[in-house]
Amino acid sequence: MKLKLLIFLISLQIGTQVCAQTADLVNYVNTLQGTNSKHELTRGNTYPTTALPFAMHTWTPQTGRNGDGWKYQYFKDKIRGFQQAHQCSSWSRDYAVFSFMPMTGRLVVNENEREAKFSHEDEIARPNYYKVRFENQITTEMSPSERGAHLRFSYPKGGKSFLVLDGYTGLSGVTIYPKERKITGFVNNGEGFKEGFKNFFVIHFDQPFKTYGTWENKENTIHANETEAEGQGKGAYVQFKDGAKVQVKVASSYISMEQAALNLERELGADKTLEVTKERAAAIWNKSLSKVIVEGGSEADLATFYSCFFRASIFSRKFYELDKNGKPYYFSPYDGKIHPGFMFTDTGFWDTFRAQFPLNTIMHPEMHGRYMQALIDAYKQCGWLPSWSFPSEAGSMIGNHAISLLADAWAKGIRTFDPKEALAAYLHEATNKGPWGPANGRDGWKEYYQLGYVPYPDYREATAKTLEYAYDDYCAWTLAKMTGNKFYADIFERQMYNYKNVYDPSTRFMRGKNASGQWTSNFDPVEWGGPYTEGNAWHYHWSVFQDIDGLINLMEGPQNFTAKLDSVFSEPSKVNVGTYRGMIHEMTEMVMANMGQYAHGNQPIQHMVYLYNYGSQPWKSQFHVRNVMRKLYDATENGYPGDEDQGQTSSWYVLSALGFYSVTPGTDQYVIGSPMFKKVTINLENGKKFVIEATNNSAENVYIKSASMNGKIHTANFIRHKDILEGGLLKLEMSDQPEFTRGIASADKPFSLSLGK
Ligand code: CA
Repeated sequence: MKLKLLIFLISLQIGTQVCAQTADLVNYVNTLQGTNSKHELTRGNTYPTTALPFAMHTWTPQTGRNGDGWKYQYFKDKIRGFQQAHQCSSWSRDYAVFSFMPMTGRLVVNENEREAKFSHEDEIARPNYYKVRFENQITTEMSPSERGAHLRFSYPKGGKSFLVLDGYTGLSGVTIYPKERKITGFVNNGEGFKEGFKNFFVIHFDQPFKTYGTWENKENTIHANETEAEGQGKGAYVQFKDGAKVQVKVASSYISMEQAALNLERELGADKTLEVTKERAAAIWNKSLSKVIVEGGSEADLATFYSCFFRASIFSRKFYELDKNGKPYYFSPYDGKIHPGFMFTDTGFWDTFRAQFPLNTIMHPEMHGRYMQALIDAYKQCGWLPSWSFPSEAGSMIGNHAISLLADAWAKGIRTFDPKEALAAYLHEATNKGPWGPANGRDGWKEYYQLGYVPYPDYREATAKTLEYAYDDYCAWTLAKMTGNKFYADIFERQMYNYKNVYDPSTRFMRGKNASGQWTSNFDPVEWGGPYTEGNAWHYHWSVFQDIDGLINLMEGPQNFTAKLDSVFSEPSKVNVGTYRGMIHEMTEMVMANMGQYAHGNQPIQHMVYLYNYGSQPWKSQFHVRNVMRKLYDATENGYPGDEDQGQTSSWYVLSALGFYSVTPGTDQYVIGSPMFKKVTINLENGKKFVIEATNNSAENVYIKSASMNGKIHTANFIRHKDILEGGLLKLEMSDQPEFTRGIASADKPFSLSLGK
């Protein structure tokens, strides 16, 4: 075991012994998980998110330059700020950021020169509390509220004590009120945060200002005694008495300065000390994390599980605020206007339709219901369904996966939206190309309908698009069918088998095909890019979420199918960089994992380990799922096998650790794998409990010998959402030997369109 992990676990035990009775789960979470990342190689591309669940604003220390997507990198030893952050991924950078930086001795505003050295030994990183002591003896602490934070800066005795407020990379403004010990202002910076949008902030200090002034961060010019400034990167500074201990309450709003003040008053107003905010944040996290109680694992396993569950509970963020009567309303990033109701944003559906949203249907159905209505509202506001929201429509990646969320919600009993409106919005989405990026509307839609596939090289990533469009069309078909809408069911029924049109029987791979029906020449299954998205033919072969049995038929039987699943792991980890022309981090991560062509560090193949269940070899899914959990995840700064991606890679772990996975969102089924713990209790919002008990479970005993659901023998390789919702007991008997006679009947297979169930 790595020394750092050991130290972390020892500190954990001390923490949990003290608070054992109160299920102090937040102390299992290490927010540094996945932060040891850089451009060429990511171990998560996360930052130490200090925030409440799905909160509007989050807080983090900053080691990178203003505007850099790598805002906190574990291997760095200097911090230059503590910032309000909204970033989904290093690749997308951030929006609406501002930051604080304390310094002692003299005022230094320049972001490069004001950096202060620290060591991870002097750092505590939990969701409800972040603390770091610099070498210069300044200590900074932060605890979050939903739309703000409570910070405390403790300066060393005898030195001058300054605090800089940095207006970051775009237009900003500040007003200093020395008598009231207050600063107000706004920022507008970053991706998808359009011109004219403002993130208004209000900051209260509990100590008087000795001196103050404004500055700007381009030339780093300082204007002492000035109380107002507006322009590019304008900020403020204040000086406190020497050796001061200063508490700072800050909140912000996208609606107005008045709303920012209301957010501050409501969320932090009564908090006399940071400890109050910290304890409340701990209680909120403990309540959220205790939706799943796991037992019978090692302390390291618990740390991994709750760290992943934390990361699965950040995106999509709540983008709404509460007016003075407590009614939700929001500034819409889609049309720039104020609307009543709920809004959520900051996620890429290409990543998160797979597991993060299905996990929310179990853990947060009320919030998820609000979200589904918000999707339709977003469509009404900007004319398109969201696909990558950050915070407005970014249109990154591929597919029209909003329909996956909507169909999945409906299949699971969430009835908060009008399915006719959803289907009309989707039909528009699927028969038009939108203005913002490849996944806004449908790239190649005409050819997709005319030819039954998107031709390559006419369209980039065409085969991946065909596969994902066909799955999305299945989702529309099933939503139409569930709601008795023959008109839409007929339209999409014709398209949902289109995956067959890009299957090449001679190589048994999904391949690029041109408009006249010829396969792309010089085929190399380990070649990345071209007709695929961030992957190769080995990865995209399995993107037939809606009809795995149909894929088995195309491959002429389950033997060929399971042999190919085996080959994913036994093939060499060879990379042909293809149209990427050089190694991208996903390739490096696949090679490092040393699991053949299995590239768990990226989304396309993440469901693949579960597919043995469709080929009557469920024991192989059980083996591989446990192997992936054990090998590719832990709670450290290196804890992910690649980009975490807005909760998706964490949600894979959370669901898998529970013992099942959402292979086909849009159905009410979860495919069984092998749970990580001896006992798991899911505490549902409806007050019921679903328990998974795995007798004799251990690192070696990963195979399911027998199973029962509520006392009845359970041979199926899946469970249903309603099994979970109604509460009950899934009892598994685990063994170190595969059980070759279990889960092999046709009736045991999970949903496939071709099976008609
Ligand atoms: Ca990814």
